Amino acid sequence: MCGIVAYIGSKQCQQLLLEGLKRLEYRGYDSAGMAILDAGRLDLAKAVGKVANLEDKLETIGGLRGTLGLAHTRWATHGGVTEPNAHPHTDDKVGIALVHNGIIENYAALKTYLEEKGHVFKSQTDTEVLAMLIGELYEGDLEKAVQAALREVTGAYAIAVICEKEPDTLVVARKGSPLMLGIGNGEFIVGSDPAAIIAHTAQAVPLDDYNVAKVTRSGFRTTDIHDVPVTPKVMQLELDLEQIELGSFAHFMQKEIFEQPKALRNTLRGRLETREGRVVLGGVARLDKELTKARRVILTGQGTALHAAMIGEYLMEDLAKIPAVAEYASEFRYRNPIVEENTVVVAVSQSGETADTLAALREARERGALSLGVVNVVGSSISRETDAGVYLRVGPEIGVASTKAFAGQLTVLAMLTIYLGRKRFMSADQCADLMRELERVPDKVDRILESDQRIRKVTEGLVDRENWLFLGRGYNYPTALEGALKLKEISYIHAEGMPAAEMKHGPIALINDGMPAVFIANKGRQYDKVMSNIQEVKARGGRIIAVATEGDDQITRLADDVLFIPEITEPLSPMLAVVPLQLMAYHAAVLRGHDVDKPRNLAKSVTVE
Ligand code: GLU
Repeated sequence: MCGIVAYIGSKQCQQLLLEGLKRLEYRGYDSAGMAILDAGRLDLAKAVGKVANLEDKLETIGGLRGTLGLAHTRWATHGGVTEPNAHPHTDDKVGIALVHNGIIENYAALKTYLEEKGHVFKSQTDTEVLAMLIGELYEGDLEKAVQAALREVTGAYAIAVICEKEPDTLVVARKGSPLMLGIGNGEFIVGSDPAAIIAHTAQAVPLDDYNVAKVTRSGFRTTDIHDVPVTPKVMQLELDLEQIELGSFAHFMQKEIFEQPKALRNTLRGRLETREGRVVLGGVARLDKELTKARRVILTGQGTALHAAMIGEYLMEDLAKIPAVAEYASEFRYRNPIVEENTVVVAVSQSGETADTLAALREARERGALSLGVVNVVGSSISRETDAGVYLRVGPEIGVASTKAFAGQLTVLAMLTIYLGRKRFMSADQCADLMRELERVPDKVDRILESDQRIRKVTEGLVDRENWLFLGRGYNYPTALEGALKLKEISYIHAEGMPAAEMKHGPIALINDGMPAVFIANKGRQYDKVMSNIQEVKARGGRIIAVATEGDDQITRLADDVLFIPEITEPLSPMLAVVPLQLMAYHAAVLRGHDVDKPRNLAKSVTVE
């Protein structure tokens, strides 16, 4: 699930591998390691914790020499965070070293089989089983041994493998976890993420599921696990290094929060024909006929993407008048869902690699749904497996806590609503009004960002509290969930989000003196009801922080702290209301001394189910 970098060429590769790992650090991980092959001998170094610890280790042992190597940042799934469990893993027979992202689901059965054959394991990982299996099946050809081993394996993997017996071969493969082969000048750089490759080349071959690539210094070939040749598709990486560097910001999350106005302008660019009340979504236009027949929309995702999907549900029903439901992908997948004719499934995912969402998408497609992707990463699995889609175009999101991708997802879902709504009950005027509001969102976000220091001050007064509530209604109920998630993810403060009305059905029992309750209390249909909920919390000693519409005096009298957002039509209000919540979470984490971009236990894109 975490990071892989591998190199074959003519350069000494230790430094290059380390730099690649550093570019992947943002994904979150708990240990790191490297193996380099030189003169037919494998040398390894591993360390628990940061890549910097691995760097220290390498220095102590005098560095690793060689021009063929692989490196890994691990996000533990099987076995604790220890040095023996860190990758690369080796076999005990032929000198194999392997790094792996993902989970080998049938590792237990394979391990028993290998133990019966006399192999002795040094770690608790599923990965070591795969290394041993490749060694066991090795008969003088690494590519063949990898293919044979992968035919025995179930689960998800991106792997890179080298072998002492083959000093000019790097074998890589994937299923369910991203991996690409960067093509340089007389060298190849493999990465689980373009960020690890882009400093060296913009030409890359993204591997498809079950693809195996055998890479030598003079070229490469791709096959599937049954050795059937696969024609590689070379693509151009559209990332520039500046996009993945911090500039003047302290953290990527902060940079990305502040990038939101620019990101949203990109999301909208060229897609609104406001005068005609029409949106132009290149990707979905060719499904126009099928979408006209759409009778039901299922929006699915996990985490922040699910919160965007929930707002999408409100948008689609409220405005486009099309029955819609948002669901955790992981739940949808396994509950034997009914997918009626003319159902459209919308898969929402920043990375486009989220394993749960991908599985739900496949399930829905198998049951006959038409599928749309709302993803950020171009060429990702979801973008390739959906019938059509709309890219977010917000640029690479490095911060583990998603911010600008959420803004982009809401914008795309609003545009999709207009697109579907125009085919149903929305008039050109109504669409045009909404589009004008959409066009003004980036400037309004800019205005909220100006109050950053004030938001920091407010957060300072609350940051020692261990339990928070986030409450909202209607369109801003999912915003409340998102506010709570942001706070949890990076500041490790316990927070719950819920519909404001739900509070009095149980959670109100939690409220004690000074407990922060963040209300999204912007002007809208349920404003008065939210006001009553605020009174209920206040009466029990809770501390009220309100996100409210500029010019609202009533709220100033009621709440302990007010964070204002500009006026906006209610369906788009989450796009503004979430911004102060993102900033609060950010400041809370910084004030508590946490590493915002590398929150504990989390990984950026979750490619295991
Ligand atoms: N399942 C493997 C482990 O626990 C790989 C984890 C990862 O994707 O980093 O070591």
